[in-house]
Amino acid sequence: MTEDAGRQPGSENGVALAPELLEILRCPACLGEFAPPTPAELVCTSCGLRYPIRNGVPILLVDEAQPPQDGDVTAPRA
Ligand SMILES: [Zn+2]
Repeated sequence: MTEDAGRQPGSENGVALAPELLEILRCPACLGEFAPPTPAELVCTSCGLRYPIRNGVPILLVDEAQPPQDGDVTAPRA
């Protein structure tokens, strides 16, 4: 049975993005750089939008991004 051919073993949602890839990626909303990614999302260091990472692929679509969550990003006001 080779139905899993091509899949990386033991990696569900923990696929690490290549550093060289991260260097060229920019936030499509503000062209800002991204913080070191979590396995689940990329966070823009400039505007704070959070882009989901699905199956190791960052979804760099503003429509798919979520705004900064309360308490998760240093907000200018309480
Ligand atoms: Zn941004």
